[in-house]
Amino acid sequence: MADERERAEHGRRLGEELASKDVTAVAVTFVDNSGITRFKGVPVGVLKRAAAFGVGATPVFDAFGADDLIADTPIANPAGDLRLRPDLDRLVPLAGQPGWAWAPGDRYAQDGSAHPGCARLLLGRMVERLAGRGLVASAGIELEWVIFQEGHGDEPEPVATGPAYGLGRLVEVSDYAADLLRALAAQGVQVAQFHPEYAASQFELSVAPADPVAAADTSVLVRSTIRAVAARHGLLVSFAPTVYHPGVGNGGHVHLSLARDGRNVFAGGPGPHGLTPEAEAFTAGILARLPALLAVGAPSVASYLRLLPSHWAGVYACWGWENREAALRLVTGSAAEAAESDRAANLEIKCFDLAANPYLLLAALLAAGSAGLDERPALPEPVQVNPDSLTGEERDRLGVTRLPTELAASVEAFAKEAAITDALGPVLTETLLALRRAEIDKYTNATPQEIIAATRWRY
Ligand code: GLU
Ligand code: MG
Repeated sequence: MADERERAEHGRRLGEELASKDVTAVAVTFVDNSGITRFKGVPVGVLKRAAAFGVGATPVFDAFGADDLIADTPIANPAGDLRLRPDLDRLVPLAGQPGWAWAPGDRYAQDGSAHPGCARLLLGRMVERLAGRGLVASAGIELEWVIFQEGHGDEPEPVATGPAYGLGRLVEVSDYAADLLRALAAQGVQVAQFHPEYAASQFELSVAPADPVAAADTSVLVRSTIRAVAARHGLLVSFAPTVYHPGVGNGGHVHLSLARDGRNVFAGGPGPHGLTPEAEAFTAGILARLPALLAVGAPSVASYLRLLPSHWAGVYACWGWENREAALRLVTGSAAEAAESDRAANLEIKCFDLAANPYLLLAALLAAGSAGLDERPALPEPVQVNPDSLTGEERDRLGVTRLPTELAASVEAFAKEAAITDALGPVLTETLLALRRAEIDKYTNATPQEIIAATRWRY
């Protein structure tokens, strides 16, 4: 009750402050199990009420596909309601959408208990579980997207035609890029880097590491800002895993590190490249579970058009120091300087894309890494070449395997991976399985072009 009153008071004060800044309403978001960010809008005058009690949201959202198909799962029951409650500490006025503010939401049952399908609350619990072992997790999600001319033609026109990583490309989108960086700064987002990527009209932006829930929140906010600023410039963007076939796709690489007593466990240890035994065990826990993790992190049929060897998507289950073709790339920063590597060292997981629900993916990764901490498996040798250039025999000797080449294989691996399904719990596990299987069925006979057309404007 005291909590409710405090939240109401916070909502009232914030609502008044927002109104004085000409903000009309708040978009309260959650990400569904297909990676689509959905929202409920709340006028600032009723933010008090929304903060105290949440706004109504059906649990059926959990069963939505990216194309709004509703999978047949026990959660897709039209009876019953949830309360979507904005996290006011994360609320920001949207610089790219004047008049609007945004806040990520948590979903509760009407009796106030945590909704077992709420990925954001789940991630918070996983972070706490690690904290219980004395480990503080940090994360960051890289964003890649392709910019098109407006107009939903069959084959949309890429805007920037300059070379990959070329300065010429910046000239082509200069005003858009400057407005975007300005909007992100106004929203308090710490951008680490912005640059053109390999594929035509593709760009990338990375942000400073943060606690995992904040990192997932930022991923939602930044994507929406990238899209909103583009719309103001008459441009369309796609974060879909694949927009050109065959070609390099849009990745959603995840960076993770852990600190114990303020020291990064991915640096300064006695293991290879400065790994501590804890970092090795955590990494090995993830490495062993990559096929299952793909059902969460590469959750679309389109994801598997992206997961090609020699496309920097990390399609081999192995790890390597700064190896861009390994699913797990150990980043050490400038190894010459201990202070720099303590700050910069992290594990980059490259095989994931932006069709993933970032909360769910980070939760599943922390579950996999924690299982490694429990089991302490040995970390195999690092791989320092393109694993695709190795012979089958060499790969066998090094224990390197190709990750699933289709969603069905990832889903079957996920179904058997108790460390992850136990962490997600039965409601999320069953929902994910039903949803992924429905998508697999729907697109069984689809061509790559049909899959791209179905997903290009959804992400
Ligand atoms: N676009 C690549 C991908 O699909 C990644 C390129 C890079 O290494 O940043 O993941
Ligand atoms: Mg990139």
